[in-house]
Amino acid sequence: MNQIVKAYKPMWSLNHAISLMGWDFETYMPSKGTEERGVADSQLHLLHKDLLLNKDFVGLVESAKKLEGLNDLEKGIVRVLNREITKQLKIPKELTEAESLERIRGNMTWRMAREKSDFMMYKPHLEKMIDIKKQIAEKIGYEKHPYDALLDSFEEELTVDELDNVFGDLTPRLQKIIKKLVDTGSPFLKESKLAKSNYDIQRVDELNHDILTILQYDMKRFRMDVSTHPFTETMSLNDVRITTRYEGIDFKKSISSTIHEAGHALYDLQCDQSLSMTPLQGGSSLALHESQSRFWENIVGRSLPFVQLIAPLIRKQVTFANRATDDELFLYFNNINADYIRVDADEVTYNLHIALRYEIEKKIFGDELSVSEIPEFWNDRMEQLLGVRPNKDSQGVLQDTHWSSGLFGYFPTYTLGNLVSALIVSKMRKDLKDYEVEIRRGNFKPIREWLRLKIHRYGSIYAPKALLNKTLNEGYNPDYFVTYIETKYLAS
Ligand code: MG
Repeated sequence: MNQIVKAYKPMWSLNHAISLMGWDFETYMPSKGTEERGVADSQLHLLHKDLLLNKDFVGLVESAKKLEGLNDLEKGIVRVLNREITKQLKIPKELTEAESLERIRGNMTWRMAREKSDFMMYKPHLEKMIDIKKQIAEKIGYEKHPYDALLDSFEEELTVDELDNVFGDLTPRLQKIIKKLVDTGSPFLKESKLAKSNYDIQRVDELNHDILTILQYDMKRFRMDVSTHPFTETMSLNDVRITTRYEGIDFKKSISSTIHEAGHALYDLQCDQSLSMTPLQGGSSLALHESQSRFWENIVGRSLPFVQLIAPLIRKQVTFANRATDDELFLYFNNINADYIRVDADEVTYNLHIALRYEIEKKIFGDELSVSEIPEFWNDRMEQLLGVRPNKDSQGVLQDTHWSSGLFGYFPTYTLGNLVSALIVSKMRKDLKDYEVEIRRGNFKPIREWLRLKIHRYGSIYAPKALLNKTLNEGYNPDYFVTYIETKYLAS
């Protein structure tokens, strides 16, 4: 196993460089550097693939597969590498190249099409990408549904059957909750005037850094910069970077983005150092990663004790909020608004956006929906699910970048992340009796330590479902999330 880890180090180093380049591309690279950066990036990816599929390396992994008496860590290394090798071997080079080419062209056209709200402009690229993805799904193989092959590439062992159960249960329950909120004239539905004033970007930047200090981030292993779409990039377990966004209006969006990305970062920062530079470094899956970001952003960050904790900082840095009461700030952070755009959605309506994308992707890969039919189907279903109908395609089918980048099967991991975040708080409250008191006092040590012990330290030793089963004794069960939402929004 030492041999494998040693032979893996050049691949890890390439990933390290690719991550740093990716971070730089989104933050500080001069805009004309795009072309050459694209070449360097794809060349490093090819080099990585050559190293991974090198006969000697594949041979090492193959013989390790036959060994008996491996411990969990060793099994994890074999599992992760075998998954990667198998996938790379199944997809022919021509398809990989076709996809990366289409990703660049499609994404560029999508940007223009979204600006003009012109679906027809983007349509040929979407058709091409779907065609490539269908071929890839066939090459990867599946038992029941072609979409299963794509789901599994983002979330190990995830299937249509499983997601049908999740959304079949979750969607009507969320719709019922929204109806109740509307029927009772809930205060959460009233838009706060705090959303409509312009803020001083420099001062909200200070506020975000103050919040990171409260959350006890070690700035010797972590940093925060600015980008249009916030993200987290892990260079190594001792160099994890996030970005946040400043639109100049509706300051909660900036604060929420900061806390969300910081939640992603904590997962990798608290991974056991013994996994550093191995294939097991970093989180187990996209859904588990999202469970961490959503736990901090929503469950902690939008809770009353947390809002009370940061309220004095807000009043200090956001001048027009200097007289807002704790309760007004709490309602502002938790305003519910059924609207078109997923990324701006509140925690009650958010998963209905994902239900819509899941349904459409499943139909696309089940050959039940043609590309021409997507915009209309999108608008009809959005009206049924959320009660609003997009007036133009930029508010509907063109709003997200995922499809233009070939990310089919990715969206459902967002909902699974939300479900797991609620599962986590339910289990955590049983162990940490003073959970809310500690948040109000700004003592996050017990929460961080709980997350480290139950999830973070394991990195990718276990597949996501195996880890949930092992340490939380549960799966992707929507009950916890529905209970969390009902308690927070309907009980008062
Ligand atoms: Mg995220």
